[in-house]
Amino acid sequence: MPEIERGADIEAGVGPSERRAHAATAAVGAPVLPVVFVFDEDRASLAAVMADLSRRFGNDFAVRGECSPELTLASLRDLAERELPVALLLFDGRHGSLLARAHELHPTAKRVLLVDRDYTSTSPAVRAMTLGEADFHIVRPWADDEVMYRAMSEYLSSLTSEHEPSFELFRIVASAGDSRVPEIRDVMTRLHLPFGFYPLEGEQGPRLLEEAGLDREAVPVVIGHDGRTMVDPSMAQLAAAFGVSIKNEVESCDLAILGAGPAGLTAAVYAASEGLETVVLEQEVSGGQAGTSPLIRNYPGFPHGVEGGLLMERTCEQAWLMGAKIVFAQQVVALEQDSGRHVVRLADGSRLSARTVLVATGMRWRRLGVARLEGLIGSGVYYGAAAGETRAMQDREVFVVGAGNSAGQACLHLAGHARRVTLLARGESLGRSMSQYLIDGLLAAPNVEVRLRTEVVDGAGGEVLEGLTLCDRASGQAHTVSAGGLFIMIGGEPHAQWLPPAVARDAKGYILTGTELLEQAGADWELDREPLTLETSLPGVFAAGDVRRGAMGRVASAVGEGATAVRLVHEHLQRPQAATPRAPAPSRRAAPRRRGRRAGRRRPRRKDAPAR
Ligand SMILES: Cc1cc2nc3c(=O)[nH]c(=O)nc-3n(C[C@H](O)[C@H](O)[C@H](O)COP(=O)(O)OP(=O)(O)OC[C@H]3O[C@@H](n4cnc5c(N)ncnc54)[C@H](O)[C@@H]3O)c2cc1C
Repeated sequence: MPEIERGADIEAGVGPSERRAHAATAAVGAPVLPVVFVFDEDRASLAAVMADLSRRFGNDFAVRGECSPELTLASLRDLAERELPVALLLFDGRHGSLLARAHELHPTAKRVLLVDRDYTSTSPAVRAMTLGEADFHIVRPWADDEVMYRAMSEYLSSLTSEHEPSFELFRIVASAGDSRVPEIRDVMTRLHLPFGFYPLEGEQGPRLLEEAGLDREAVPVVIGHDGRTMVDPSMAQLAAAFGVSIKNEVESCDLAILGAGPAGLTAAVYAASEGLETVVLEQEVSGGQAGTSPLIRNYPGFPHGVEGGLLMERTCEQAWLMGAKIVFAQQVVALEQDSGRHVVRLADGSRLSARTVLVATGMRWRRLGVARLEGLIGSGVYYGAAAGETRAMQDREVFVVGAGNSAGQACLHLAGHARRVTLLARGESLGRSMSQYLIDGLLAAPNVEVRLRTEVVDGAGGEVLEGLTLCDRASGQAHTVSAGGLFIMIGGEPHAQWLPPAVARDAKGYILTGTELLEQAGADWELDREPLTLETSLPGVFAAGDVRRGAMGRVASAVGEGATAVRLVHEHLQRPQAATPRAPAPSRRAAPRRRGRRAGRRRPRRKDAPAR
């Protein structure tokens, strides 16, 4: 009997569905079922796990198992040699090193640890998850199949989101180095739209163009599954093609939310569900920075992490179902006052009158300032994690610049695809700016290197990035390296330049809120009451999330502030003066004028949030 069949010998492990799966794998021309491979030294436990898996997943997966490390490696080696796909490796948690060896044979398989019910810090799941040696864990024994079913669905959906989709809603045809492609890919990735990329230099790209009746000059082109084509589509055209609103059709509302990141979307969920007429205006599509994160591991309720785009897409859908009106691809360009109402002006020339406003416009990445690299943005050089580019980084030499959590997280994610990932940081250590779990993960990852005291001073490449010049800050020596991808995450600047001077900001442009307005020189607060916690210097205009001075730079804190802001909006609307916001002050850097009840009282200034 060939080794691949040996799993079938495990008693109770072979159900009728598994036999079908085996047959399907063996039959000539039949689709090859991906393998779910179980290793458990305890034969009875192995048989039980396999039986449960086969019952539920036997139609779509070939469930295999072994109870000895040697046979496990032999089976997996055989599968690798025969290029048979392995989707999941479910291994007894006491055998982490065996799982690591198995993963070397099948690097795209998701790793699941089977652990006993032990919620102490010594559980193997804690270490493995922290060091990135496993993607998920499952506690045995499970009381009913439902537990296993839910868990497996999570593992398998995370697997499919990282692989080429089997059905493509959209096909992008463009030159390999086209700088518009990352933007198009990013939008589709954020909205979870299955797509494929077909370079003009390949075989399929030109054929697709020909079938669509377009010539090569038309690229980049997006071809829908229904045959509709969009030549070099704008953000608005893309958003419209995805079925979302791109034009605001509301004249007035209770609350205008500016920005559809975690803060804005959460506020929209609460405001709409609490009966406020709510409009969300977003210059791109939903998600904000969080939407670009491949895996957010510290958001409560998701022990194995959650894909940022998915979390945000679901929040957006929730806000929409609650009744919020959401408009994408509409940049807010100004905020004015008119007859006691706030007037939001949009880039398309339209306006929205609102009783209250929440500014949740977050921040953008600071530029590296290397001219040659700026010219290659989108062609191997990316600001942020650029989750949509992950697949394109397969087997490449990738560099990440930054020392915050987002940079650490991007390294670990890219390490699952790239040949090698190098983190470049200017400082002496990562400890001050990066969470320990990420530092541990970076040190443990075999294909990740950390270079401290290193700066990127130049780049090379014509159409696409080919190399970097790195400078050792200690010795001053520069050297060149070849590079297939550069991801830059070096902190940011708030999206607040478009606000009127009446909305007070600090020297870096972050919006001042609450009692900080009473403490900061130049901030105006003229009402005979204290500003509400998230209220700006313009009464009735609130700020939440990363655009606010002192923000934590976390998804959970942006979410919390979004929810809190709605409570404050209600409070403001119940006040008699709500209908009469004062006229804008002449300049945001005006001399200090603190006329409120608490004027003259100084509080210690809060420290800025830690770097991300
Ligand atoms: C790659 C990456 C990974 C991260 N990982 C984590 C993590 O693991 N854990 C964690 O807690 N945090 C993480 N963060 C940080 C977290 O995502 C942010 O703190 C959070 O998204 C801030 O939310 P926000 O709503 O305040 O702003 P943002 O997410 O920045 O959203 C602001 C939105 O406003 C829109 N906007 C801006 N200006 C305008 C305008 N004029 N008109 C209309 N719309 C406008 C923007 O397009 C954007 O969609 C990560 C960030 C990044 C970039």
